Amino acid sequence: MAEDDALWSTLGFAEDAAVFASASQNVRVLSEGWIAMHGFCPSCGAEPLAAFKANAPVADFHCSVCAEEYELKAQRGPIKRRIMDGAYGAMTARLKARNNPSLMVMSYDPGRARVTDLIVVPRHFFTTDLIEPRKPLGPNARRAGWQGCNILIGDVPLSGRIPLITGGAVTPRAEVVDRWRSTLFLKDASLNARGWLLAVMRAVEAATDFGGRPEFTLDDVYAHEASLSALYPGNRNVRPKIRQQLQVLRDRGWLAFNGRGTYRRT
Ligand SMILES: [Zn+2]
Repeated sequence: MAEDDALWSTLGFAEDAAVFASASQNVRVLSEGWIAMHGFCPSCGAEPLAAFKANAPVADFHCSVCAEEYELKAQRGPIKRRIMDGAYGAMTARLKARNNPSLMVMSYDPGRARVTDLIVVPRHFFTTDLIEPRKPLGPNARRAGWQGCNILIGDVPLSGRIPLITGGAVTPRAEVVDRWRSTLFLKDASLNARGWLLAVMRAVEAATDFGGRPEFTLDDVYAHEASLSALYPGNRNVRPKIRQQLQVLRDRGWLAFNGRGTYRRT
């Protein structure tokens, strides 16, 4: 996705598609090849991204400058709310060890001729709630008992779904890196604290019509109190908890306090 590469979208899958026999293998090889050729590191802006050896556990690329690791999932048509991913145990173990990879999700058109959308979810947006276990494979399956997982992309705040390509239009690299850096503070939070911050970020995004208007009030966020209580039933003091998260988000520059109970997204 080098910015000076005006032909990026036409450097698609179609020409090579016939070479690969298996459809899923085909998509994997082509999408990884595309990232290796056009991708850059959304964390630091360096290029290219280096591919791990095939079948590396839970990651496909890494950046040789900042060491960020990426997993890539490609699918036909619009990016869905739920992405099928690899082994559940490996994903949760890496998350708990705080070395999970960031996730790139690519969508391509039905003819596999071009990449239509590409987003990256930085690893600091992951919580255990985001990883949904799938049913283990039955006793007759080749890998009986193996358990995969889904990643619930739809539950990630918009701030954590950084667009690199939207409907064929490329986001400037500097903007991608800026957006990545603006939420790096989540890295410092424990998984539990991160869960609260992400829930309040989602509430703020909903309260501001997902970027439609910059200002909001405390009451706008309290309107989501019920869903926050449902997420965290153990915590009866949801309102103080919300105010506390807003303060953290203000201290970290994600939002600003205007006074008189009004806030503004920065
Ligand atoms: Zn990097």
